[in-house]
Formats: sequence, structure tokens, C-alpha cells
Amino acid sequence: MLNPETVPPEDRPILLYEKRKSVFPKAIDGYYRRIKWAWMVLALVVYYVTPWIRWDRGPYSPNQAVLIDLAHRRFYMFSIEIWPHEFYFVAGLLIMAGIGLFVITSAVGRAWCGYSCPQTVWTDIFQHVDRLIDGDRNAQLKLQAAPWGPKKIAKRLSKWAIYLVISSLTGGAFIAYFTDCPTLAREYISGEAAPIAYYTVAVLTATTFILGGFMREQVCIYMCPWPRIQTAMLDEKSLIVTYKDWRGEPRGSVKEAKSSATPLGDCVDCNQCVAVCPTGVDIRNGPDIGCITCALCIDACDKVMEQVGRPRGLIDYATLGGCEAEKAGQPPESLKKAILHPRTIVYFLIWSAVGLGLLFALGVRTHIDISVAKDRNPPYMLMSDGSVRNAYTVKLRNMEGRPREMEIGLVGLDGARMWSDDQSAATAGRTLTRSVAADQADPVRVYVIAPPGTKSQDFTFSLRALDKEGGSDSHETHFDSPVEETE
Ligand code: SF4
Ligand code: SF4
Repeated sequence: MLNPETVPPEDRPILLYEKRKSVFPKAIDGYYRRIKWAWMVLALVVYYVTPWIRWDRGPYSPNQAVLIDLAHRRFYMFSIEIWPHEFYFVAGLLIMAGIGLFVITSAVGRAWCGYSCPQTVWTDIFQHVDRLIDGDRNAQLKLQAAPWGPKKIAKRLSKWAIYLVISSLTGGAFIAYFTDCPTLAREYISGEAAPIAYYTVAVLTATTFILGGFMREQVCIYMCPWPRIQTAMLDEKSLIVTYKDWRGEPRGSVKEAKSSATPLGDCVDCNQCVAVCPTGVDIRNGPDIGCITCALCIDACDKVMEQVGRPRGLIDYATLGGCEAEKAGQPPESLKKAILHPRTIVYFLIWSAVGLGLLFALGVRTHIDISVAKDRNPPYMLMSDGSVRNAYTVKLRNMEGRPREMEIGLVGLDGARMWSDDQSAATAGRTLTRSVAADQADPVRVYVIAPPGTKSQDFTFSLRALDKEGGSDSHETHFDSPVEETE
């Protein structure tokens, strides 16, 4: 059997499975690392604090600012309350989030992956825990190679214990978006929360622990579809983290440069860019699907360039087109020009149009709503006097935090009258008045009776709020009769 270590790389067989090489990124400070810190802190504060924010909606609605109330089928976001029949708002927000990713990718490449993706944020946190317990890269490499002993076991256990605490806090914060957060926290700690709360936290703890603690860059490289989609979206105008090979090559140390017969490039082959990379990529080999555009290699290389007295920016944010121009001796492309290219502007306009559409729909939506389901079986009842009766389930929605008087009316269907389950047929009329409780949907059984000879036809139930704020809605439905509608 061949020993792969003794076979030259070019002669080695291509294997379908490659064992993971663990990544131990070195700590780095610099411009992009500080942006990453600030963004990470902001994202974590928003994630952990949001469920604790209170928002007064009156006595009939929950007072949590952001709440996905599955039990009552409502989504609350500050002063906005979305009902199930308004799911298009949620769909619109998801579409905006999707197009938003397109805008970001088109403008600044995989910035989502490098700065905001939960996988990146939690992996970053866990890598800092590694440094806290094991030390920086070299100490981690040494510990990894060391045989198992009391010191290594103690370090591993303490690290995993911290991972577990972080992971369970992550799961705990997630379920707080689905129920009243202070109540949940109290019940959870005292063991009185619903079993589903414990199951959900257990599942989320396990996934965070495994994905952030152990799988790390493998999630980005092998599991996440986004890098593939993004790769298809990138072109020569997209901003990516790039190694300027025409400037860096041929690479060689400062010492080698002094003794070399031919001039060497700016890269001193210090490997610092690889050492700090959280996904273990060597950006000098060209664009790589594993590169999440976190720009930490820019910080590392800029530091090295400063130390050896060469211009910064050997690794930099740049477009491939800009690099070609720079290689040909033209000045570097401005960041503004690289970001504001036509595709980004088109994506941004689409994103804005969806956003404005949602805002408009929010602004004009009524806070009362009517929906009607007609009885199909039987479609009608023929009464002894020849009149025809149809039955409907009419749902009235009051989306305000106070009870409201509403009037249902018949539009069309001449001569027809209606009454509800809790009235006698003798009181039937063209309108019905109901009081609908605050923030409730009120289903009413309504019977509509039409004079003999009435043909099958469409008609409308109208709804009108009787208080001074007003508001109206309507729902078209059908009236069935033995006399068929003529064209
Ligand atoms: S190559 Fe550079 S930008 Fe890409 S992931 Fe590694 S450190 Fe981040
Ligand atoms: S950090 Fe810069 S100088 Fe060092 S190996 Fe990477 S590209 Fe070359």
C-alpha cells in the first residue's frame, strides 16, 4: 500500500473524502476586526435584549414588543400586529430579507457570511472561548498534539462547559420570542415551563454546541447553500477579499529578498493571513468558497506590511475588474464606484419597492375584516313558500385593542334578508349589528333568505365599524338557488 506521505503531491490519488484539518485561528486586531466586534456586540444585544422590551398595547393584548404568539396566531412587532390572514406582510418581510442579501452580496460580497450570519457569530464566540481556555493559536496547536492527560481533559471539559452555557442561553433567548419572556424565564428556572420549552431549548443547545463548537467552517463550506448561490451572483464587478498576486509574487522572506538575484514581490510568506483565517483559507491561492469575506487576513497582512515598511493593501477588498486595471498600472478603483454598480442599484430599487409596498399596505389596512365561508352541503334550502335560504359562516375580526360595534350588510341580492344564529328569523333584515371583543375574531352563523324566483348569483357582505374611527371591509360570495343564473 502506498504511503501518501512519501508520494509527491502531484502523484497522490484524488480521494473522495478528505479528513478535516482543524482550524486554530490566531487572534488579530485591526480595522476590520474592530468592525466585526462592534457588529457582533450589536447583533447579540439585539438578539438577547429584544424579547425583554415591553410595549403597552392596552389590557387585551400582550405587552411584549416583539412576539410570535403561536397560540393566538398573531405576530407582534412594536405597534404592528399581524393576523394570520395578513401573512402576506410576513411573506413580504421574508422577500425583503432575501433581496436584502442580494443587495449586500452585490455591493460587498459575502459580508453577511463574514459579519452577521449566526454560524459566523457563534463560531467567533467559541473561538474566543478556545483562546481564553487554551491560549492563542500556538498553544492550541500544542494542546491538540499533546496526549490526553489531566491537564488536557480539564481544559477540554471547562471549554465544553462554557460552550454549553452559551448554547443554552442561545436556545433560551430564541424561545423567548414565542411567549411572554419574563414569565417564561421565571417558569423555566422554577421547572414549571411547558415541556415543549425544555425540548426546544435542548434541541437548540445541541445544534449550537455542535455547529458552532465543533463543525464550524464545515457548515459554511459543505452544508450551507448560500455560498453556492453567492458564487453564482458574483462577477468581475463584485467586491471580494483579494490577494494582489501581481504585487505579492514571487513571494519570499525579507532575508530571501536581500539575497535573491531577481526582485521578489511584497509577500514575505509569513503565513499570517492563513493563521488568522477562521476558515483556514489561504487567500493567496485565489477566490475560495471557504472565504467568508471577514477581512481578518487584510488586518493581518496590513500589520505585516507596516512592519516590513511596504504599502498596505496587499490583501484588500477589491473587484476582479479593479485588480486587472490596477495590474495594468491604473489607479485603484474607488470603493464608492465598486459598491454602487448598476446591479446593486437595481437590487436596491427592488428592495425599496417591496418595502414601500409593505409600508403602503400597512398604512391603508383597515382594523376590521370580514371573511365568509358558504355552506356547500346543502347549497340551499327551498322553503315551503318558495323562498330560498343559504347559510354562511361569517368571520368578523376586530384588530384593535378595544371592543367595537360592527354592522354587517347585504349588497346586491335584491329582496334578501338575513339573521344570525342568536336571533329569530322574524327579526331578519338587510343589516345585522354585532359587538366584537377586543383583538378577537367572531364567527357568526348567518342565514340569508331570498324571495321565490331569486336566481343563483354573486352578492357581497359588507362590514362597517359603527364607532367614530370607522373603517369598512367587504367579501363577495355566492347565493345558490334552484333557478340558475342566465348569462
Ligand atoms: S481568507 Fe481572509 S477574508 Fe476569507 S475567510 Fe479567511 S480571513 Fe476571512
Ligand atoms: S500576511 Fe501578507 S505577507 Fe504574510 S503571507 Fe499573507 S499575503 Fe504574504
